[in-house]
Amino acid sequence: MAATTALYKNALQRYYILFCILAQNSEKYTKCGRKYEYYLNYINKNIKSSITKEKMPKIRYLRDKFVFLPKKAQFRRLMQHPLHLFSYCPKCGSDKFTENDFKSKRCNDCGFIYYFNPLAATVGIITNDKGEVLVARRAKEPAKGTLDLPGGFCDSYETAEEGIRREIEEETGLRVSSTRYLFSIPNTYIYSGMELHTMDLFFHCTVENCGTLIADDDVAELQWIAIDDLRSEEFGLASIRKAIEKLKEIKNTL
Ligand SMILES: [Zn+2]
Repeated sequence: MAATTALYKNALQRYYILFCILAQNSEKYTKCGRKYEYYLNYINKNIKSSITKEKMPKIRYLRDKFVFLPKKAQFRRLMQHPLHLFSYCPKCGSDKFTENDFKSKRCNDCGFIYYFNPLAATVGIITNDKGEVLVARRAKEPAKGTLDLPGGFCDSYETAEEGIRREIEEETGLRVSSTRYLFSIPNTYIYSGMELHTMDLFFHCTVENCGTLIADDDVAELQWIAIDDLRSEEFGLASIRKAIEKLKEIKNTL
């Protein structure tokens, strides 16, 4: 095992191998209920020497996300390869479509490699003259009925700026006059039974006329809310909750 681990250059890949090992030992492992000790012993024995100071924030993040999970089911889900639902090669149809590394699968018949990368999505923070933010209520799953900000997936060949303009017009009827990139937050999104990974790009947007709102597409209703009155816990998607907190910190720069 040590020889295999040494082939991988970054901590993420090592951790994926670790999860695979834990999965193989899951019966013994969950029965004894000593996840933390098992994990720690393995790290001490095989991985610790290769962890540098620079890698620690990422490792802490992974440790908190994967190891201290309260539920067995959650743990099992996170152990799955992101492409576990893809059983056959999309190029030749072979069933010898196997895990290549922690983010790709490879066909052992035709050599095709498929990578699992995040999808680009845009989110619009639209403010009016009173400093209020336009908030939508989600009409569809996931997180139907919770609050959200206008936005959606980018189409092929369009820029992120074009994407957010299109989404805002589709969902609110408003025409965007200017966009300014603010920050990005990665997210996961369940669609058709699959966990999609997204890279949400947040834009501050101004619109030509705030007066006429038409809730459409994925949006059930729209309302203007003062930034200080936004409550992140009312927003259903994790990246939007984080963005609301960030927004309160940077509100004076909008
Ligand atoms: Zn193939």
